[in-house]
Amino acid sequence: MFAICPKGYSQFMGISAHVAHQGNIMSERPETSTLQGRCLCGAVTLRVRHDSPTVSACHCSMCRRWTGGPFLTLECHQAPEIEGAEHVRAYASSDWAERGFCSRCGSHLFYRLKDAPFYALPVGLFEQGGSWPFQLQVFIDEKPANYEFANQTKTLTGEEVFKQWSP
Ligand SMILES: [Zn+2]
Ligand SMILES: [Zn+2]
Repeated sequence: MFAICPKGYSQFMGISAHVAHQGNIMSERPETSTLQGRCLCGAVTLRVRHDSPTVSACHCSMCRRWTGGPFLTLECHQAPEIEGAEHVRAYASSDWAERGFCSRCGSHLFYRLKDAPFYALPVGLFEQGGSWPFQLQVFIDEKPANYEFANQTKTLTGEEVFKQWSP
């Protein structure tokens, strides 16, 4: 939800802000790049344009039940382009969101809000995901006590997350 997605924001950000934000490693990249990910069996490919990919973690009990642990995602404000969409199934996990997965291999493909342009895509789908900075943890108040990330990130409680989405 803090990720800056390329819906016109890139023009305002400017290249210098972009480079400053990303650090030197990313400075040779184009301002907005197309990121490509795929599921375990390869039946589904996702493509999304993004100018500053970062990693967020959700510790909520639903994400942990769905993924088996904290859900590491790339947050995005546009729908990914999906190749192999016939293999995608979605489960409505609440009145406001659904979770997509590959019907052949079971890989998680997205969490999305039904009434807002928000997608959280599993970082593990993307080859380059390991180089994106880890910047945010949400539902920190639902994190079990038996693990903790050493990364210094911004954190939000569930209540703080809901506040951001309520009108
Ligand atoms: Zn698959
Ligand atoms: Zn969650």
